[in-house]
Amino acid sequence: MSEGVRHLCETVDCKKEARLQCPTCLKLGIVGSFFCDQACFKKSWKSHKIIHSLAKGENPLNPSANGVYNPWPNFTYTGKLRPAKQTPTREVPAHIPRPDYADHPQGRSLSEEGFRGNTTIKVLDDEEIEAMRVSCRLGRLCLDAAAAAIDVGVTTDEIDRIVHETAIENDCYPSPLNYYNFPKSCCTSVNEVICHGIPDMRALEDGDICNVDVTVYHRGFHGDLNETFFVGNVSEKHKNLVKVTYESLCKAIEIVKPGEKYREIGNVIQKYVQSHGYSVVKSYCGHGIHRLFHTAPNVPHYAKNSAVGMMKTGNCFTIEPMISEGTWRDEQWPDNWTAVTRDGLWSAQFEQTLLVTEDGCEILTQRPSGRPHFMDKM
Ligand SMILES: [Zn+2]
Ligand SMILES: [Zn+2]
Repeated sequence: MSEGVRHLCETVDCKKEARLQCPTCLKLGIVGSFFCDQACFKKSWKSHKIIHSLAKGENPLNPSANGVYNPWPNFTYTGKLRPAKQTPTREVPAHIPRPDYADHPQGRSLSEEGFRGNTTIKVLDDEEIEAMRVSCRLGRLCLDAAAAAIDVGVTTDEIDRIVHETAIENDCYPSPLNYYNFPKSCCTSVNEVICHGIPDMRALEDGDICNVDVTVYHRGFHGDLNETFFVGNVSEKHKNLVKVTYESLCKAIEIVKPGEKYREIGNVIQKYVQSHGYSVVKSYCGHGIHRLFHTAPNVPHYAKNSAVGMMKTGNCFTIEPMISEGTWRDEQWPDNWTAVTRDGLWSAQFEQTLLVTEDGCEILTQRPSGRPHFMDKM
């Protein structure tokens, strides 16, 4: 708000000049709420605080239902994070081509299931490679739009809305939507959430770390990437977790070339993060990606794994290490998606989609600057 603009006190029947702003409003990003002094602020509190709950998506008429939202009263959480309410399903216009699972009642991908257990890794032809370049570039566009919105007070549902709308504007179907009934258009994984967090009405808080995982489906091909972002002022220890996680992905990408074994990726990642005192999540892996969202090869991020296959020019796959401060062990919330650390300590992740080329690889989902967003805030 520019200097010189005059505001009047919000208290009914006051209308004195006001310069004081409610700290909760500032935190939530509500603008234009002013008071003349503390006494007026106190006097108005009961009615004023309703706009806070409205901004947080709560029901101000039923305050007893707010702040205590807990869909699983008998569940013991491993950390401090709690789920919040979810908004209704977002629609994708009919003119945008959809993957097979989009309209399956259980979200099953029969095309993927037909290849289960098959370890043959597809070699893409020139036309397919070009299609992957386009999908991955559009996925990057959606993630960068999400990055620009991330801030204290912004809900993960708002991030989801931005990813959903950016995808649609670019003729993409947001791949996670209805994939095995996943209810949203991207995954948002905050603090102790390892991956597959469901966007909801929880507002991001100062000091959080938030991973946004985006996949888009465009003209029959998927492009998949994620980054972990800082929300406001993040502690040095959590900044370091995010930095080391990113660096482990870079080290793994460096070895990608024809003739390299897929199982070697995990050795590189674990060696690096272990030297910094961190652990590698084992339950979730990188994957082949092209016309299918998840397919061969399976790409574990931990050492001494038994992944099948050797890299060949024209292979497309993701590397997406999930690195934890404490234990590598994970468990799931009763929503059957949200994966959290068993000790409640935090976890970070980065992901790129790669194309194996004759002399190494092309990072198809690379940000134009080549730098991840968190580095601007180190
Ligand atoms: Zn992925
Ligand atoms: Zn992803």
